[in-house]
Amino acid sequence: MSHIPIRTCVACRTKRPATEMLRVRKWEGSISTEAPGGRGAWLCPNEECIEQAFRKRLLVRALRLESMPPDWEQCMARLLQEAYERHAESGTEEDR
Ligand SMILES: [Zn+2]
Repeated sequence: MSHIPIRTCVACRTKRPATEMLRVRKWEGSISTEAPGGRGAWLCPNEECIEQAFRKRLLVRALRLESMPPDWEQCMARLLQEAYERHAESGTEEDR
């Protein structure tokens, strides 16, 4: 098994393997989970952490965004959706 880096959630500060977390990157004045590079922040794939990161604007600070992305709410919705899908995937893995 290869070494898995440990990352810290920007919302709850919990340390987890990077593979279990959602990575958010600064991308063209907004944020993206699919950006090829750039400054990144990590979040637990759960509703609490994602909502906190957006509502308290923790991601703005973590990613050093110059301003609030205009699609902030959509970004949050997209991340919540990704977290939801992540849970659906890990659920099937546990069943094996
Ligand atoms: Zn967290």
